Amino acid sequence: MVKHCIYCKCEIDQNSVVDVCARCGYAVWGEKMFQAIIENMEGARKTGSLDQGSISTASFKVADKLKYG
Ligand SMILES: [Zn+2]
Repeated sequence: MVKHCIYCKCEIDQNSVVDVCARCGYAVWGEKMFQAIIENMEGARKTGSLDQGSISTASFKVADKLKYG
């Protein structure tokens, strides 16, 4: 199954932990924060704390936490 970026609808790696492409991720969060989000999400996936359906929602929560926390 191919995943699409939620912003620009381009195809992204189906193994990507977030539903945005790197280009949009950088534009929205900035390169450093986007990388932090990816690392955080990959860590969460490794521990099995995320299921497929909650990934994009969780990534925004992570972004908020990084921004305001
Ligand atoms: Zn995109």
